Amino acid sequence: MTDTAPVTCDLCVIGSGMAGMSAALFAVDRGLSTVLVGRTGEIIFATGFLDLMGVHPLEAGTLWNDPWAGIAALVKDLPQHPYARLSTATVRAAFQNVIKFFETQGLSYTGFPDRNAAVLTAVGTVKLTYRVPLTMWSGVTARQHKAACLLVDIQGLKGFSARQIKATVGGAWPDLRTVKVAFPGAHPEGDVFPERLARSLETAGARANWAAVLEPHIQGAAAIGVPAILGISRSAEVMQDLEKRLGCQVFEIPTMPPGVTGLRMKEAFERGLAGRKVRLLLENKVFRAAHRDSGFLLEAGSMEPDRTIQASAVLLATGRFMGGGLQADRHAVREPIFNLPVQQPERRDHWHRENFLDRRGHPVNRAGLQTDEFFRPIDATGRPVHPRLFAAGSILAHQDWIRMKCGSGLAFSTAYAAVENALAELNKG
Ligand SMILES: Cc1cc2nc3c(=O)[nH]c(=O)nc-3n(C[C@H](O)[C@H](O)[C@H](O)COP(=O)(O)OP(=O)(O)OC[C@H]3O[C@@H](n4cnc5c(N)ncnc54)[C@H](O)[C@@H]3O)c2cc1C
Repeated sequence: MTDTAPVTCDLCVIGSGMAGMSAALFAVDRGLSTVLVGRTGEIIFATGFLDLMGVHPLEAGTLWNDPWAGIAALVKDLPQHPYARLSTATVRAAFQNVIKFFETQGLSYTGFPDRNAAVLTAVGTVKLTYRVPLTMWSGVTARQHKAACLLVDIQGLKGFSARQIKATVGGAWPDLRTVKVAFPGAHPEGDVFPERLARSLETAGARANWAAVLEPHIQGAAAIGVPAILGISRSAEVMQDLEKRLGCQVFEIPTMPPGVTGLRMKEAFERGLAGRKVRLLLENKVFRAAHRDSGFLLEAGSMEPDRTIQASAVLLATGRFMGGGLQADRHAVREPIFNLPVQQPERRDHWHRENFLDRRGHPVNRAGLQTDEFFRPIDATGRPVHPRLFAAGSILAHQDWIRMKCGSGLAFSTAYAAVENALAELNKG
């Protein structure tokens, strides 16, 4: 291993998804010296919508307009769900802190005070979510009021089809038109990519050129829906400038992942955390970890371990199978860094239900770490593995965030609670 000086910190957060990034934010804001080690994971696939609670029970597919009532029903029926360990005040505080932080990074969110909003997805289906990027909000209201609306396809842009969206929602929204336009300067026969278009729209010249292309097609539309390409770091500004040029509302609809919506969150987190002096070891992985009573020794690096981190506490936010927080072989699911016990179906043939599309989901999707009430992973005897080892986000057992539509809410609020608990433990000295 390369001999670099060990990095020391109060808290080492492992994982740079929604849970890890928000945990680092909460920790540094509480005065903890914080190191974040993580590889790019699911965050770049995210739509930008911040879900709190959408569906429960899964077998009935019951949708909740009021996410707080949804959480209350969920924890009554599933008392092991991580939400059952959190007060409403904690979940609210976690959301408010992250949204305020995003705002300082040019990423504005909005929504109904205490209600989910119905948002359009890339394929024209409608889903419920709690907080919506400001750049997508006019789409919510335009659909609600069935406003005259133009949806725009861009030649060569894959993963978005205005025509498909119209085919899916047009029945209930008759005043919807579509048009396909070339993006100024793009090769007429070639592919175009959301990130390139988004970065170009951060310049006033590109916005003027695109507005000139769109303007003749407005023809009385009150709003124009475009694929999510309205800038990366100043998306609301880009939207407002186009609205001024076009004289009507402009809104984004997410493209298929990976698009720019996840990238915006990733870059906002990275910029803001670096500004707050979180030590970021990005595109790095923790390979091994050892713990003693006094704290943790972690070995991290990009391709192989090349530095050590000495941390008084650790927060594990390494996600599920996609990012490698959980690993499965033919027999069992394991947690690879600390080799923590993973709650999972007793037998391999119980991992999945027979019908792949079973609306109840598959038991393996609820596998994960069991914790005590302080979000500390527990061992086979039910005791915390270490008093200052915490876990947060989708690695936790007894939840299926994809189907329950609670991804960001679960990530932010468990991270918030875990950091508060870590702080309390560290203050014991
Ligand atoms: C396609 C898609 C769409 C989504 N859409 C939405 C949405 O509309 N609304 C919503 O609320 N949420 C959405 N999400 C969910 C959200 O982005 C998060 O994935 C989810 O909240 C879980 O976050 P997490 O931080 O727990 O895990 P992850 O996002 O999986 O992050 C875990 C991180 O840990 C890293 N890691 C793993 N092992 C190590 C290691 N040894 N060392 C260092 N780092 C490690 C991984 O590389 C990864 O970066 C979506 C996710 C996907 C994939």
